[in-house]
Amino acid sequence: MSTESFNPYRMAQEQFDAVANQLGLDEATRDLLRVPDREMHFNIPIRMDDGSYKVFRGFRIQHNTARGPGKGGVRFHPQETVDTVRALSMWMTWKTAVVDIPLGGAKGGVICDPHNLSPREQEALCRGWVRQLIDAIGPDRDVPAPDVMTSSQHMLWMLDEYEHLTGRKAPGFITGKPVGMGGSLGRTEATGYGVIYTVREALSELGLRMEEATASVQGFGNVAQYAIDLFHSYGGKVLCVSSWDQTAQEAFAFFRKDGVDLKQLRSMTNSYGEINRDKAAEAGYTVLPGDAWIEQEVDVLIPAAMENQINRDTVKGIKGSVKIIAEGANGPTTPPADAVIREKKIWLVPDFLANAGGVTCSYFEQVQSNMNYFWTRDEVISKLDTQMTDAYFSVSQMAHRRNIPMRDAAYMIAIARVAEACKMRGWV
Ligand code: GLU
Repeated sequence: MSTESFNPYRMAQEQFDAVANQLGLDEATRDLLRVPDREMHFNIPIRMDDGSYKVFRGFRIQHNTARGPGKGGVRFHPQETVDTVRALSMWMTWKTAVVDIPLGGAKGGVICDPHNLSPREQEALCRGWVRQLIDAIGPDRDVPAPDVMTSSQHMLWMLDEYEHLTGRKAPGFITGKPVGMGGSLGRTEATGYGVIYTVREALSELGLRMEEATASVQGFGNVAQYAIDLFHSYGGKVLCVSSWDQTAQEAFAFFRKDGVDLKQLRSMTNSYGEINRDKAAEAGYTVLPGDAWIEQEVDVLIPAAMENQINRDTVKGIKGSVKIIAEGANGPTTPPADAVIREKKIWLVPDFLANAGGVTCSYFEQVQSNMNYFWTRDEVISKLDTQMTDAYFSVSQMAHRRNIPMRDAAYMIAIARVAEACKMRGWV
């Protein structure tokens, strides 16, 4: 764990400023895009199961809607901060722009730990969150989705509250709903699969074969699990995964030299992606300290947990064998670590491109919900692959052409698109 003080908002603004300079953006456009358009901070009072009352703090931050309604997940996390939500809302704007879908960027959060909340208490939080935001959200305003520690069940509670308050059905209000209740086939897999589509193209650009590739993954939540799933079905091997241990309040890494067995690991994992350490050890995994995932002799590293994981300290552990880093999480790499990665010439696929499969499929879900006509899984997955692969190549072509890192190229494309939309609307 790093001791450097980390502020994701400052990091998002630093990244923006650097690219704004390269693009020569005018003052007004910079002023518009380096801070969110609108922020909502509010209380959510809940009656707890024991009859007591508790007040939780909630947020929705809309960064930019020039290209379409706000879009982005809602996180439930005990360490949630306004600055984290601000940064994440900004990254959503770049994410929807880089994959070229007609949506803007927003993010929400509630400071809470769902581990300590009953399903009824969580339902009350979801309904309270929607009640506080009713005038600011909606299918043509701002469309929430799942994120860290929120699930399709949370989305359905939020939808139900929204429909009660508005008195009409509006399945396009939210995405990541359960299949059969307005959800899209393929949405659960979409983020993890999207990461691997970019890894597939990156490996082939570097002349490496997927069947011989090895990877190490940080995290074992939804993104990580489906990334491992697709990596394995392409013939690659994941040697190590790490996961949070709620009881120990620290992460552990699980290594197996013949590759991890996804199905078996899932059978010893709770709904938050926390692997049971004793069971894993019994099943033959070597249990290592949490940061060991980054120290593996593999071709590909996939941070798919939280922000600030590859930092000044942990970056030192990256082995010479690593050729690709695909950021499944949002903001996992800090700028000082990024500088080291650039120096080492590791091909890094940046977060808002690598993990854009989730929001891309959310867009498909919203289209299907609005039409009330649902596609087959194959249709969804093949559209997702096409959209992600096209986005990957537009970024990598710019990176090659200008001889710049993928992160800079992705930022240049995304910021230019958003700036153009603001200009065309006459905002700046
Ligand atoms: N929470 C996901 C993300 O960070 C998905 C957002 C969405 O589907 O709107 O990209």
